[in-house]
Amino acid sequence: MNTLSAVPDLILVASANPHKIEELQQMLRPLSITLKSTLDFPDGEEVVEDLPTLEGNALKKARYWNQFSGLPALADDTGLEVDALDGAPGVYSARYAGEKASYSDNVMKLLNELEDKPDKTARFRTVIAFVDGVNEHLFEGVCSGEITDRQKGEKGFGYDPVFRPAGYEKTFAELSPEEKNNISHRGLSIKAFTEFLESKKNS
Ligand code: IMP
Repeated sequence: MNTLSAVPDLILVASANPHKIEELQQMLRPLSITLKSTLDFPDGEEVVEDLPTLEGNALKKARYWNQFSGLPALADDTGLEVDALDGAPGVYSARYAGEKASYSDNVMKLLNELEDKPDKTARFRTVIAFVDGVNEHLFEGVCSGEITDRQKGEKGFGYDPVFRPAGYEKTFAELSPEEKNNISHRGLSIKAFTEFLESKKNS
C-alpha cells in the first residue's frame, strides 16, 4: 500500500488547528515540504467524523480534501483506548460525555467509569491517512500507559491530566510539550509518516 513515486513539495493538512500544523511543519522542515491547511480552502466543507474506526475517519477526511484541492492530503484521528472499558472511548474520545462535552466533562466521566475497575491500562492511538490521488497510506502512533485516579498537571489538553505514559511518574499534563511530543501517539505517527517520506526521497 505504501508506495509513492516522489516526495511532494506541498501537502494539505485536513485541519484548521494551528498547533497541529505547526507541529507537523517543524517535523517536515528537513524535507522542505510546505503545508497548507483547510483555512487556505474556505469553500471546503467540514467532514463529519462518523465512522466507527480511527482509520475510517482519517481516510474519509484525507480523501475529501485530496479530491477538493487536488493536493496530496493528510488527515489524522486520535482516540484513547481503555482496556477495562473494552477500548472506549476510542473513536468517540472527543464526545465521550456527549456531543457538546468539554474536555473536563470527558475526563470526569472517564474517572467515574474507572472508579471501581482495578485495571487502568490504556493507550492513545493516532492514525494518519495520506492520500495523494493515486495511493492511500496509513501510519500509526501508539502511546501506552495508565489512567490515574485523579487529575494531575496543568499542561496539554483533553485527557492529558489523567494519562500517565508507561515508564513515567508524571501525567502528560505534567510533561513539557517537547517531552510529550517525543513519546506521544501523535509525535510517533508523524515520525512514521516522515520516515516514509525520507525513504522515498533516498530511494
Ligand atoms: P483528534 O482526533 O486529534 O481531534 O482527537 C480526538 C480527541 O481525543 C480530542 O478531542 C481529545 O479529547 C483526545 N485527544 C487527542 N489527542 C490527545 C492528547 O494528546 N492528549 C489528550 N487527549 C487527546
